[in-house]
Formats: sequence, C-alpha cells, structure tokens
Amino acid sequence: MTDAHCHCRTGADRHFVCEPFGGEPGEGDMAFFGVHPWAFLDGTAAEDGWLGRLRARLVANPAAGVGEIGLDRLKVRTIPDAMREAFRAQLALAAELRRPVVLHGAKCWGEVVKAAAEFSPAIPAFVFHGFSRSGGLLPDIFALNGFVSVGPAVLNDHAVNYRELVKAIPADHLLAETDRTSPDEVGPGVGEIVAEIARLRGVAADALAAQLDANAARLLA
Ligand SMILES: [Zn+2]
Repeated sequence: MTDAHCHCRTGADRHFVCEPFGGEPGEGDMAFFGVHPWAFLDGTAAEDGWLGRLRARLVANPAAGVGEIGLDRLKVRTIPDAMREAFRAQLALAAELRRPVVLHGAKCWGEVVKAAAEFSPAIPAFVFHGFSRSGGLLPDIFALNGFVSVGPAVLNDHAVNYRELVKAIPADHLLAETDRTSPDEVGPGVGEIVAEIARLRGVAADALAAQLDANAARLLA
C-alpha cells in the first residue's frame, strides 16, 4: 500500500513524504523537498536564500521530488505575490532538475493546473494532492501526466460531490493519501481510505491497492 501524500511515515509500505516533515522518510519512501504555500503567509519562508538552499538539497538528493508546493486561497482571499512567485520558481527548479512534483491548490486548482502546464514538458509527473474540484479539470490534469490523490475526505458521507468525483477518476490516474502531519495525529490510515474508494467504485480493495501501487511506481519511473 502506498500513501501518496503525507508529512511523516505512518505504516504504509511506501510513503511519498513531503516537507514540512513531521518525521523523516525511511527506506523505500520517496522524499519531496519544497516550501509549502502557507509558509508565505506567516513569514516562515521569508529568509533570504531559501531557493538556493532548496536547489542545493535537491542536487544533493537526486532521488528526491519537489513538494509540497502550490497556491492556497483557503486562508486568504487574494494570493500574495510572494506565494505565486515562489510557486513558479519551484516549478522552474523541478523542470530544470526533471523531478516529479506534489501540488497543493486549495480553492485555486484552475490556476495551479495552468501554471503546472507551462512547466510540464520538463516535469515527469505531478501528484494533485487533495484535489477536490469538479471533474472539469481532469482532462488537463491527465494531459500533464497528473495523478489525483484522494484523501480522508472520501470517508465523509456528506461529501457527496467529492465522492462522485472519486468514482469518475480513471483507475490508472488514481492515488490515495493520508496527508498525516505527525505520527501522533488521529486519522484514518491509507488502508481505510483505499477500502472506501474501492467500495464507492464497486471494486475489490486488494485489486485497487495493487493498481495504486502500480500507479505510484509509474509516477516515479
Ligand atoms: Zn500536505
């Protein structure tokens, strides 16, 4: 079983562990280095030279991807220029170093998809983490070699539109994630999330888990 987006290890066979780390990646995991969009809201990312330091760490770790990066309109009405510039700078870095990218796009997925498309010829693959918009953007996402990662929200039976979206994503572009930030955090494991996705889609959970592992392997290939 693969947890396609989290910030710490939780007991899956493989984790895509993104910064900010709540626990270091372990053997078999894939690490993603990057500055989260929220860091541009509270000033965490304001120190000079952050991009150069990120670049040096990526160069020193040739197997690492870039993430979690993106834009966010959950906490602010207007996206700050610094957030937008940092997103583009990190996409350019991923393109230059040919690394896969984990994207965050709360309430601004349209803009995130557009920016990703500009850099996509040189970026091997994208994880659309927590993607929750209606299906209209899916063809654009698949054209970028994008994978849609489904999170704990699928377990909420009031999330009717989201559960419909989860049913509509082609199996070969699907992933599952916990988005766990620390090992102590209470929340479902990736196995529960995969079981619910399988139930909604009317397929066997173990077959779906195998498909998602194959998708994760394809993404990293
Ligand atoms: Zn996250």
